[in-house]
Amino acid sequence: MSSDFDFCIIGGGVVGLAIARQLSSLGSVLLTEQHDLLGSETSSRNSEVIHAGLYYAPGSLKESLCLRGKHLLYDFCQRYQIPHRPIGKLIVAQQPNDPALDQLQHKAQQLGIPLQRWNQQQLQQQEPAVRASEALYSPTTGIIDSHSYMQALTHQAEQQGALVMRQTRFLAAQQTNHDPAWQIALHTSDGPFTTSARWLINCAGLQAQQVAAASGLAATHIPDLYPCRGHYFSYSGRSPFRHLIYPLPEKNLTGLGIHATLDLGGQVKFGPDTEYLASDDLSYQVRPQLRDKFASAIRRYFPALDEQQLQPDYAGIRPKLHNASQSATDFCLRLDQAQKSLHLFGIESPGLTASLALAEWAERSVSRE
Ligand SMILES: Cc1cc2nc3c(=O)[nH]c(=O)nc-3n(C[C@H](O)[C@H](O)[C@H](O)COP(=O)(O)OP(=O)(O)OC[C@H]3O[C@@H](n4cnc5c(N)ncnc54)[C@H](O)[C@@H]3O)c2cc1C
Repeated sequence: MSSDFDFCIIGGGVVGLAIARQLSSLGSVLLTEQHDLLGSETSSRNSEVIHAGLYYAPGSLKESLCLRGKHLLYDFCQRYQIPHRPIGKLIVAQQPNDPALDQLQHKAQQLGIPLQRWNQQQLQQQEPAVRASEALYSPTTGIIDSHSYMQALTHQAEQQGALVMRQTRFLAAQQTNHDPAWQIALHTSDGPFTTSARWLINCAGLQAQQVAAASGLAATHIPDLYPCRGHYFSYSGRSPFRHLIYPLPEKNLTGLGIHATLDLGGQVKFGPDTEYLASDDLSYQVRPQLRDKFASAIRRYFPALDEQQLQPDYAGIRPKLHNASQSATDFCLRLDQAQKSLHLFGIESPGLTASLALAEWAERSVSRE
């Protein structure tokens, strides 16, 4: 039985694009994105940080794919001149000898991640505006222009023959007893469109659960979604910092704490915080009233903060698979070799860093058939 495409990828965020680039050297690829602009959901609403891989559960996909993805991403940036900078990050503790710093240091040693411990004096020399008792310095943490990165992924996928259909919403997919190819119903800007593919790859981010249900994945295999919004405030004026400044991460790794990141233009922003949402309220609004909460969190490590320089900026929504009272969960990659489907659930941070490693993972999975 023949099909129009070897692979149909649903979702043109950074992960769908990375997978489209990877698989377009193996076979024909169709990528469908509901919006006109690629990467306009979570992939353009994040901190644009290339994470070192310090935080994740030992042996988890988040850990291994972040470590691998970081190397692949730095190589990619150098090779294709994607604006990026290994600016380095400080994780600051307010109490001396905080056991959380020991744990992170131990983990870094085990994983071979470079990490230095700075005392208050070293910290003062390097970051005079920061108040803390001690800090860990991670030199391999960096920042990236995620838009240039996604443009490069798209360009390379298209050059290798991938068809990237914008304004094309995936509606449903099914297989029949007579034909193992996926019959796929789409809605394009010109109206309904049907096609077929041997493999169905679901990279729909916050809508991955809906896409999985609409392609017949059993409800027992679809993890619950707990959307969790993170807001950002920009900080006008010159940056008071040279590095990214992070407090210690939140309990259960719900978030990494309201941190200071710099973009490649040197503009500082603070965030994201964590706010669990009802799944029918996925708005990106940043309420100005959050300023007080931000100011008190930031003052713990940046006492000279001028609250008036904080302006509501943007928000992103993490597609979490656990709620506030549950333990942190891993990426959930549901592969069915027989059915030829791959569903990616819960691709929250470090999904940007891990994107090229997720693409390698997808390639290995579809090549095993
Ligand atoms: C606040 C925040 C901060 C973060 N910071 C970082 C960071 O600093 N570093 C890092 O490594 N990671 C970070 N992340 C995580 C990272 O942004 C995500 O892991 C990554 O962007 C996920 O990409 P994706 O392609 O899986 O999802 P998305 O970007 O959400 O893409 C999914 C796409 O699927 C499309 N889609 C959905 N349904 C359909 C349909 N039916 N038909 C067609 N298209 C559909 C959507 O329109 C969307 O474009 C952060 C995330 C958040 C929320």
